[in-house]
Amino acid sequence: MPFFDVSLICLNGHMINDKARHEPEYNSPFCETCQAATISKCPACKQDIRGREYEEKSGYMGQTDILEGYPCTVPPNCRLCGGEFPWTEAKRKAALEMFAEQIAEEAERQQFERNLADAMNDTPRAGVAGKLLAKQLKGAGSFLQTFVVEIVSETAKKILMEGR
Ligand SMILES: [Zn+2]
Ligand SMILES: [Zn+2]
Repeated sequence: MPFFDVSLICLNGHMINDKARHEPEYNSPFCETCQAATISKCPACKQDIRGREYEEKSGYMGQTDILEGYPCTVPPNCRLCGGEFPWTEAKRKAALEMFAEQIAEEAERQQFERNLADAMNDTPRAGVAGKLLAKQLKGAGSFLQTFVVEIVSETAKKILMEGR
């Protein structure tokens, strides 16, 4: 039976420890990289943020061996309540700010905001949103392009990379 550990993540989205329960010696109240506070529970529903997967195997003489799964990645949303994690909001806001710095037109900004929200969640509109984002980002700097590619869903990411 597989079971899951708990992830400790900083508010800016750096993974601190995806084995917060089994190896608490790596836990830290603040992020070494950016000094932001760390959390292991969803701020909205207060449930643990899922960490690394383990597999329990019965070993020699009835002992239980525990096999570690793959390191887990930082999730954008809570899998239990669907809420957006603080780092997702922070990244979206940063992208919007960068876009606003380069594009003055308000209508275009609003479109960008809507497309970005759809592209970050794997909604049915993620593909279309990815295409539109690629178009909107044509004139933007490469830093913003790279930043957006990193924060959108896999579906939108593929389309964005093609459209570049
Ligand atoms: Zn951090
Ligand atoms: Zn939640």
